[in-house]
Amino acid sequence: MERRIYLDNSATTHTDAEVLQKMLPYFSEVYGNGSSQHFFGREALVAIDEARERVAKAIGAKPTEIYFTSGGTESDNWAIKGAAHALRAKGDHIITTAIEHPAVIQTCKKLEKEGFKVTYLPVTEEGFVTAKQVEEAITDKTILISVMSANNEVGTIEPIREIGEVAKAHKILFHTDAVQAVGNVPVDVVKDNIDMLSMSAHKFYGPKGVGVLYKRNGVRIERFMDGGEQERNMRASTLNTPGIVGMGYAIEKAVRDMEKNNAHIASLRDYFVKEVLANISDVRYNGTTDTSRRLASNANFSFEYIEGESILMSLDLAGIAVSSGSACSSGSLEPSYVLLSLGVPIELAHGSIRFSFGKDNTMEETEYTLKKLYEVVARLREMSPLFKKFEGEQKYV
Ligand SMILES: *Cc1c(COP(=O)(O)O)cnc(C)c1O
Repeated sequence: MERRIYLDNSATTHTDAEVLQKMLPYFSEVYGNGSSQHFFGREALVAIDEARERVAKAIGAKPTEIYFTSGGTESDNWAIKGAAHALRAKGDHIITTAIEHPAVIQTCKKLEKEGFKVTYLPVTEEGFVTAKQVEEAITDKTILISVMSANNEVGTIEPIREIGEVAKAHKILFHTDAVQAVGNVPVDVVKDNIDMLSMSAHKFYGPKGVGVLYKRNGVRIERFMDGGEQERNMRASTLNTPGIVGMGYAIEKAVRDMEKNNAHIASLRDYFVKEVLANISDVRYNGTTDTSRRLASNANFSFEYIEGESILMSLDLAGIAVSSGSACSSGSLEPSYVLLSLGVPIELAHGSIRFSFGKDNTMEETEYTLKKLYEVVARLREMSPLFKKFEGEQKYV
């Protein structure tokens, strides 16, 4: 393959080279168990606590409010199940949105099987929920509100501060899945009235398999895994020292370079979007056009008459990595529930592709991707029986 262009930075990012260098000694020389009482253990513990401070500082929290986990999925599961189970005597109602990541949606579905009631708030065509919607859904049985900070498919940034204020006014716990937000947009758990927040290192150029649940001091939830007394007796299992060290450096660097990176990423994304809309007909730009409320990295399109999967595979052959919203389940392609929630018609939802730019992408890669995309869309439409109906009209350039 001549080219390798990575435009799937919302799925994961590579581990930053500097971050990797910081991690390496913790695989080899400094291999002690952070819970051990000898100097091997103490060395690891010092590094873990430094990472804890770095993570806390990046989101305006205290180090005692940071709990290391195995990633965003575990943090979401723990926050939601842990709160629901701890507060069951108080109420059984949870408010979330229709466009959460599966780590939140499936967790809520599981709780419904246990008898909890869940409200999945609908979103606008642009992908937003409002604080007013959240407030109107509150009942005297509501124990938890969980709304994502930024959406992974369409990049919408939700009004977290306003929702946090509503939660605070009603004395209801507020959790946010901030996996897509941390490192990309400013996050401040105090200003935003956040009680619990999930994040994951591999979304901001840290390693995979390590995340954090921030839990405000005083918030009581059940522990998630039983076993040892790690993480102040709240999360059992030997800490992943190299991963945690990497997460600390990665978040520090992501926050430090946020403005610079976002300026670069947004310039590529904005150019890409402008060119796609100008040069391909019958294409819908999903999500909001308000760039102040959209992740700089995200561009999501639906191409009429053709399948997202076919576009993805053709771009893959051309050495360009993107993502389609469809989930392949039991051989049939389900269109993205996020796009359907935005009101994207089902045929269009089938023809969707997410391009997510990262700090190391270049303008040359963007140009190359545009060129290949024009070719791929034109070729697939040529073959599409749906498109043939429109033969004679110029449907693409
Ligand atoms: C990636 C992602 C997750 C899952 O994080 P993992 O660390 O991969 O488990 C959860 N929520 C959102 C919004 C994500 O983008």
